[in-house]
Amino acid sequence: MVEHHVTRRGIRDRGVTEAMRTVPREKFVSPGCEEFAYEDTPLSIGEGQTISQPFIVALMLEKARLDAGDKVLEVGTGSGYTSALMSRIARRVYSIERHERLALQAKERFEKLGYHNIDVRVGDGSKGWPEAAPFDAIIVSASAPAVPSALKAQLDLGGRLVIPVGRSEQRLKRVTRTGAAAFEEEDLGGVLFVPLIGEDAWTAAHPMYTATAPPSPETSASGPGSPRNAEGEGMEKIQLPGGVLDHTAFQRRFWAIQRIAWIIFTLLLVACLLGLLGRGGPFSRQTIAFPEGAVDFPVLSRWKAPEIMTVNFAPSSEDRVFTIDAAFLQSFSIEGVDPPEKATFVRQGRIGYVFPGNPAGSTQIVFRLQTQLSGLCRTTIGIDAETRAQSTFIFP
Ligand code: SAH
Repeated sequence: MVEHHVTRRGIRDRGVTEAMRTVPREKFVSPGCEEFAYEDTPLSIGEGQTISQPFIVALMLEKARLDAGDKVLEVGTGSGYTSALMSRIARRVYSIERHERLALQAKERFEKLGYHNIDVRVGDGSKGWPEAAPFDAIIVSASAPAVPSALKAQLDLGGRLVIPVGRSEQRLKRVTRTGAAAFEEEDLGGVLFVPLIGEDAWTAAHPMYTATAPPSPETSASGPGSPRNAEGEGMEKIQLPGGVLDHTAFQRRFWAIQRIAWIIFTLLLVACLLGLLGRGGPFSRQTIAFPEGAVDFPVLSRWKAPEIMTVNFAPSSEDRVFTIDAAFLQSFSIEGVDPPEKATFVRQGRIGYVFPGNPAGSTQIVFRLQTQLSGLCRTTIGIDAETRAQSTFIFP
């Protein structure tokens, strides 16, 4: 994962890539999702939240320029994966999460993995963690309508805040504290995160549309159309596929579609097996339409098995003729015709069976057949002057 989704996409920070090699991501995903843990995709962690995509996490950590001696804060602990990575790079990690269950789960994970330099708290991270401030770096793993002022205030001098912000479009920003009241803001590209819900963020009722914070003024640091960061490294626009935001719903839909596909596949398999047995399967027979009637013909059959072919003539006052060619008699022998034909003739290699017409209604004739020869056989059958080519596969 590190090689494929992180290093190759331009993450160079050794601290970050080493941490990603050390922290087992599969321990941070929901049971059942472990096999996807190393894909570059966000995954559901419950409560409608997602563990971020590895590349985005790596990018945020790199942009936060974490140092071994740093005291850092993550807002939006979620699964705890990002905080775990931070704990492998920095000295001390504070991590705040609004969902109690997620916070407790993350705490348990840290204990199990022996990551003892992380403090987890349940609360509204849009207000930061004032008791532990100032921080050398703050990473916000959910998107705010604007940069919360409390987080800026809790940065140490030179401290970096990496946060996705935006109303209609989310941009990843890095805010660096350059003085007591001076901040530098850089645009790192387009992103898609779950909303940061809190007093200085979005409200819970309409997470993506209702902001409780005032809108941010456009910053002059915002980059041009093609996102490039301050160091000039090429950065692609990071957009997750549609529907990923509500990831549990996306996964539920995915599994539902897969289940339907399985059911269809199983039904087809059963249908084919019935067809193979030569009886009753929807693929074992075919109805061939003619202007003056129709023929129900065996498409799949077994060698030496009795078969039935039915010919339905449309109402007519004249005699009706059903014709077959010589090849038909290689595949099938005719054991009986019911009701019997009025006459039989041979003309141009075709055998004709003549039946009296019935002006009052359609007439059904049943040919009792015996399959003769295994393999694929092609014959032509006809009603009156019309003929059709038809294949039959007879299983040995
Ligand atoms: N970094 C996480 C992914 C977090 S998803 C990981 O690696 O798994 C974003 C998280 O932010 C969610 O768990 C969500 O519950 C949390 N969140 C949203 N608003 C918050 C707030 N105001 N304070 C703290 N956590 C918040």
